[in-house]
Amino acid sequence: MNAQYDAVVVGAGFGGMGAAIQLNRLGYDNLLILERESDLGGTWHVNRYPGLAVDIPSATYSYSFEPNPHWSRLFAPGAELKRYAEHVADKYRLRRYMRFGSVVTGAVWDEANAHWTVSLAEGGPVTAKYLLTATGFLSQPKKPDIAGIDTFGGKVIHTTAWDDEYDLAGKRVAVIGTGATAVQLIPEIAKIARELTVYQRTPIWVSPKLDFPVPKAVRRAFAAVPFTQRAARLTGTALLELMMVSGVLHYRQLPMANRLGKLWCQAHLRRQVRDPRLRAELTPRYSFGCKRPTFSNEYYPAFTKDHVHLETTSIAKIDETGIETADGGRREIDVLVLATGFDLWEANFPAIEIIGRDGRNLGKWWRKNRFQAYEGVAIPKFPNFISLNSPYSYSGLSYFTTIETQMRHMDRLFGAMRRRGATEFEVTREANDAFLDRMTERLGDSIFTLGNCAPANSYYFNPHGEATLLRPSSTLNAIKEAGSFPLEDYTFA
Ligand code: NAP
Repeated sequence: MNAQYDAVVVGAGFGGMGAAIQLNRLGYDNLLILERESDLGGTWHVNRYPGLAVDIPSATYSYSFEPNPHWSRLFAPGAELKRYAEHVADKYRLRRYMRFGSVVTGAVWDEANAHWTVSLAEGGPVTAKYLLTATGFLSQPKKPDIAGIDTFGGKVIHTTAWDDEYDLAGKRVAVIGTGATAVQLIPEIAKIARELTVYQRTPIWVSPKLDFPVPKAVRRAFAAVPFTQRAARLTGTALLELMMVSGVLHYRQLPMANRLGKLWCQAHLRRQVRDPRLRAELTPRYSFGCKRPTFSNEYYPAFTKDHVHLETTSIAKIDETGIETADGGRREIDVLVLATGFDLWEANFPAIEIIGRDGRNLGKWWRKNRFQAYEGVAIPKFPNFISLNSPYSYSGLSYFTTIETQMRHMDRLFGAMRRRGATEFEVTREANDAFLDRMTERLGDSIFTLGNCAPANSYYFNPHGEATLLRPSSTLNAIKEAGSFPLEDYTFA
């Protein structure tokens, strides 16, 4: 039985769109992109909270082959990212493949027909020769498991489901969480709320944000002479790479780089907060880099305002009208904002049930063995499957580095398959094992192994306690390997 589609891509964010563009380049035109949300853009469609902006310079946070000369600021606001996603979808004619509101429930490899059967929450299953999952890392919102949370009678808003109609002005607001989202959101809420209480479990390292509007003349230069923007991109990428490789991945060889990062953030806090007690409460107790640091000039000053309170005692329970802390303290609130982030490992690796050859269940296999994926894209016993959000797949600090590295891997892999007249590929167990050993060894040099990461509660670490989200190599190494991995690492049929 022939498959209905050449490929099914799950997810219409930047990862899924990059994969579809690459499949087009490889000559596949019969594609289906399934997206559970009502529109494309992934993270940038779902997140609309006040203050949302990219925290990687925009010239770097975009496809290298589709530069956008129109970014209004060095760190563009979220709405511009959404518009950029729409532009890419239109220019590369990707909308014709997209089906919105389609919740994928699972995928099974059909050995007899050599294709994937993808089941949906609504409607019949679809079949495809190739399956690519681009379901994102930060896509399954986490609601905290706090006693009584469901009894709260006021307004509850998770940051991924922002209610644009609801006005926080003059309200007593509580924010739970102090991750990158909260860092952007808190200064905005502080501007309008009557009272704001921030419940912090783990403080976050905050670096100054060197942000500014991009002058019109510069934008015109970017549009007229694309080389100028490429140079800006290269500079941004090189700086991010330096931070990541020297400050985090090569901690053993260059501990000073990590210390500089920490000192830079500490000086920022000292400059912005005079009160030593507040400063101590806002200072992380874990090593810089264990958790993604963030950038803001407005976060710390928000806590120095009279109507903004930092609560560091843990929450005991929530009731109909307020929040009670473990020391018996209590605050009455009107609105509860959950900036509690995402469930990365339990709900997301993988985001749907995937069953490969010989009945291998990916989620169970990862949990029973270790979280692993050859070059962050392929897994033994999962033929014709590219898992774009895999262990060790995230390379570099801009997600677009990862996306384009994976597009390059696809190019080499599908090209080799076609040259052999084959239609099936599967990574070998030996190649996968060797890759895992290499990554494990490299992690030994990183802050994740050598630093004090336990108090960080970092989502970089999987349930086995291994930091397998980021690829512990330079971006250059990842790009090089994506274009030169040994073809014998795969079998073709
Ligand atoms: P996050 O970093 O996981 O932060 C979630 C926060 O909620 C943490 O402070 C966490 O505390 C707290 N929390 C969770 N459950 C809790 C509970 N039961 N009780 C008390 N506190 C609880 O999530 P996020 O802030 O949404 O950011 C996730 C990632 O998104 C970032 O690391 C970044 O990569 C990305 N992001 C990027 C941008 C951007 O580019 N502009 C903006 C926002 C986010 P613990 O730390 O103690 O667990």
